[in-house]
Amino acid sequence: MSAFSEFELFLTEEAVGKYADVIVKIHNLPEDHPFTYRVPDHLNIAVGSRVIVPFGTRRLPGYCVKISSTPGHHNLKKIKEIVRVVDEEPLLTEELIHLAAWGAKRYLCAQIDFLEAMIPAGLPAGKTLRAKTLLVAELTAAAKTAKARGEKQKLALALLAEKGPQTLVSLAKKGIGASTVRSLEKNGWVIIKEKKIYRNPLSPLEVAPQEPLPLTQEQSFALKRIFDQNNLQPVLLFGVTGSGKTEVYLQAIAEMMQQGKSSIVLVPEIALTPQMVERFCARFGERVAVLHSRLSAGERFDEWCRIKNNEAHVVIGARSAVFAPVENLGLIILDEEHETSYKQEETPRYHAREVALWRAQQHGAKVVLGSATPSLESFFKAEKGEYELVCLSQRIAGRPLPPVEIVDMRQELKDGNKSVFSRALSQSIAETLSSGRQAIILLNRRGYATFVLCRECGHVMRCPACNVSLKYHSVTQKLCCHYCDHQEVYPHVCPVCGGRYIRHFGTGTQKVAEELLRLFPEARVVRLDADTTARKGQHQKILHSFKAGKANVLVGTQMVAKGLDFPHVTLVGVITADTALNLPDFRAGERTFQLLTQVAGRAGRGNNAGKVVVQTYAPDHYAIQAAKNHDYETFYREESTKRKELSYPPYSFFVRLLVSGTQEGSVVDACSFLENFLSGKCTVLGPSPCPLEKVRGRYRWQLILSGLQLEQLLTIGEATARDFQSSPFAGSVRLSLDVEPQSLL
Ligand code: ADP
Ligand code: ZN
Repeated sequence: MSAFSEFELFLTEEAVGKYADVIVKIHNLPEDHPFTYRVPDHLNIAVGSRVIVPFGTRRLPGYCVKISSTPGHHNLKKIKEIVRVVDEEPLLTEELIHLAAWGAKRYLCAQIDFLEAMIPAGLPAGKTLRAKTLLVAELTAAAKTAKARGEKQKLALALLAEKGPQTLVSLAKKGIGASTVRSLEKNGWVIIKEKKIYRNPLSPLEVAPQEPLPLTQEQSFALKRIFDQNNLQPVLLFGVTGSGKTEVYLQAIAEMMQQGKSSIVLVPEIALTPQMVERFCARFGERVAVLHSRLSAGERFDEWCRIKNNEAHVVIGARSAVFAPVENLGLIILDEEHETSYKQEETPRYHAREVALWRAQQHGAKVVLGSATPSLESFFKAEKGEYELVCLSQRIAGRPLPPVEIVDMRQELKDGNKSVFSRALSQSIAETLSSGRQAIILLNRRGYATFVLCRECGHVMRCPACNVSLKYHSVTQKLCCHYCDHQEVYPHVCPVCGGRYIRHFGTGTQKVAEELLRLFPEARVVRLDADTTARKGQHQKILHSFKAGKANVLVGTQMVAKGLDFPHVTLVGVITADTALNLPDFRAGERTFQLLTQVAGRAGRGNNAGKVVVQTYAPDHYAIQAAKNHDYETFYREESTKRKELSYPPYSFFVRLLVSGTQEGSVVDACSFLENFLSGKCTVLGPSPCPLEKVRGRYRWQLILSGLQLEQLLTIGEATARDFQSSPFAGSVRLSLDVEPQSLL
């Protein structure tokens, strides 16, 4: 036999079998092309399985993205075998594998970044999780003629006949031991089965079932538009606060269930919306799966399995729930679609809205984007006819939107009022309390920390690593940095001039609460902020006590602005609207309008009319004026005119190149290198230092690519990243790309 035919023989014998393409995480490779492995016969593998594979001398976790019966163009002798398959059933579906490939191109990152973002967070890499099982005893047909021996056996048979299948644990509690059950099994009268038990994260929530409400005309029209068979366009459900958007979602989901299809509901931050989860559970009970950052890994895994096995038909969760392994998807809802939390701020920097649109297209499913203050991007698309605009213009039961009073804080100071509460706000609080109603006070703390300042020389205490002002924490009496974990003691004298008048300024929620109690000793105040909700369950507890009327004033950060529905709240106060307005970001006006509208929407949702008081140093700003008048469209016109003039999104696309490193010099040099590479290719803003110039000891600079064609920007961005990888800067400076950034801080 010639060498040639020997080789052929070898091929026919060896090449038949199973091969898997696997993506593994290797940091030094810019692109993650898959590697081919042989699948040993005994392994149960599918596209979407997590696997462990040999790689060089190491073993790495990876994801199977393709299965084939030939090894492609690979040299057979070099092909290694998969070591093991991690999960009993694949965690991901084929659709999600395709999604990772699309997402990597759309957001200029690696497929592996998406694959890792998809699997339920907190699952230990490479570790097999299983649903818990219990042993259950059940009577067989033969049990009818059973001749039990002894009291225990008789008791067991009687119990099973009366009550149906029982777990061995509960039988043991009734004095029937495992040996008794086993001997019944031996006689063929009983069989013992394994039953999967899901850890149910909702069980502590006892919710009374709730029936669908009869819809208003506007609501039923919206529902009809969602179910228009001839039109798969996404629906932008533009409904004022309290107009009953959630009821529309609930009935749309119910209709989908009727058609045998499942739905995904995305909410901005699930930990902040327990009320929303309760409403879904009240309507759909066990058919709801919740994906939640505060679940244990086991709970999350179980919810994932319930979704994948089609045992849950509505998934509710934050951004990453858009990856839920739903196979018969009919509907994806993004509630509060304008919220920034839908954009992930770390790799993969995807926007849940875009992922939702992609998935919907795969399934022929509908997307509903709901908001009282749609993002400029979405309203712009509705204007162009890419989305169908559906309005809910009225609050339920003809309740009016609350009047908004704007208070000029400059005038308060001129008139000698130095309190954080203007006269108008404190009077409104007094009235609310005396009439037995409730108030919500918002303190937007972003950028408004209690900083420490020397009154003699003006020195502000800053973090040596991050260059942001340090925040004074009264509990620990320490100064803390917001961006890193730096802490220092409160200085008695100014470190610069030695002066003794160094004090903290600004206001935290705690200080507002204290001030409230000083002015209104009879008030019952609860606080909702990062400090008071750090422990699991606290958030819900605080809201429950407020709902039950145990407290009458709720003071909090942005958390109080979202989604709360308390009928007795008649007053909403905003301590200062300026903190959002003064953020160094082109969306500051939009953010301010959204925040004010959202929080104003918490007032007057019940039978009693509400009222809003907004304190500000910039009373004439168009965002504040529009919020005062509940006038989205005027705001939209003003804001979009400005964006158009500057050619900002939605009138262009942005791709942000963020350059960071520990040496400012090399960061700046790297920026010049990038600038050179980009010259003549597209419009570039910058390079310039980011508003947050230094975070965790790293200097941050940015360049912003701007253009009318996203595709073209992506091509340029990709080429830039590749060029940068092979440049001398790649070792010391980090370049990260953010497609359609939500924050430019
Ligand atoms: P949104 O989500 O638009 O802010 P919600 O769905 O929370 O509004 O509705 C506001 C309030 O009106 C809720 O208390 C809700 O139960 C109630 N509601 C909604 N739809 C109806 C309806 N068709 N009939 C009666 N009450 C309704
Ligand atoms: Zn710091």
